[in-house]
Amino acid sequence: MALLYTDAEEAERTREMSKPIPNLGNSKNTIEILNKYKFVFQKRYGQNFLIDEHVLGKIIRSADITEQDFVVEIGPGIGTLTQYLAAAAREVAAIEIDDALIPILEDTLSGYENVTVIHEDVLKVDLRKLAQEKNGGKPIKVVANLPYYITTPIIMGLFENQVPVDSITIMVQKEVADRMKTGPGSKDYGALSLAVQYYARPELVANVPPNCFMPRPRVGSAVIRLTRHEKPPVEVRNETLMFRIIRASFNQRRKTLVNGLGNAPELRIPKEQTTTVLEEMGLPAGIRGEALELSQFAELANRLEEQMEKTLE
Ligand code: SAM
Repeated sequence: MALLYTDAEEAERTREMSKPIPNLGNSKNTIEILNKYKFVFQKRYGQNFLIDEHVLGKIIRSADITEQDFVVEIGPGIGTLTQYLAAAAREVAAIEIDDALIPILEDTLSGYENVTVIHEDVLKVDLRKLAQEKNGGKPIKVVANLPYYITTPIIMGLFENQVPVDSITIMVQKEVADRMKTGPGSKDYGALSLAVQYYARPELVANVPPNCFMPRPRVGSAVIRLTRHEKPPVEVRNETLMFRIIRASFNQRRKTLVNGLGNAPELRIPKEQTTTVLEEMGLPAGIRGEALELSQFAELANRLEEQMEKTLE
């Protein structure tokens, strides 16, 4: 039976079929490319390249990339994960800081017409504008084996700058993945846990041992998927105030919440005020911030804001 395609579908099919098969997900081909360009690893850029096809496949599957997706990759390295993303997505923008990797990427991604390499520090790229230009402002998918030294600013930047994001699937240090998922009572619980859980639903995809990278990192890694909430799970009248309270609570972890909020320069909330609110919430005056869960931080912020408004009246 003959299959009939429109001209546009036929063109797309031909383009799909002509995409090269990813070939960098192993140590042999990675070493070959690194030697060809006499590449020197830059420790300051957190360079640990993936050399495991199984892990790469898992990242792509859990990120749920389809031919409709526009994907942003942060730190493509020599283009290993990028090849997989390009094979699965409609379009990929890969942001790389290291000058030495740009000619390598031109080589390894030469067969993929749907990839744009942006030679820039990701923290300086306006991702909101990029999503607007390349995806009509619709939610994008972010996928990356992140440079570990700037994991937190990258994630917080994506959330706080209101980049339209559908999901973020990232390789991070195992300990950071644990911090994102945990709640009160764990030593890993902190401002990052609360911010991530306010904006997204974190799911651990896989633990990844050091031998899946070149060079091997000293610690274990994990792939985590953060699926953005359509609406945050708690209602907060003033997000900035809530996050200031959260930061102040964990900056002075060993202090009571009352002292922490009283000492923080950006808050300076009178101790009596916090004590009254805690009492209204049925919490002990000597409680530490690390004992509160997200819904309690939201309630605390809402009640403190109400009090501040009353004081101003
Ligand atoms: N994606 C590649 C892979 O999985 O093999 C490389 C991942 S490696 C952990 C991190 C990459 O991020 C490196 O290529 C590094 O040069 C790049 N990088 C580091 N800091 C960056 C920044 N501020 N902006 C953009 N890229 C950065």
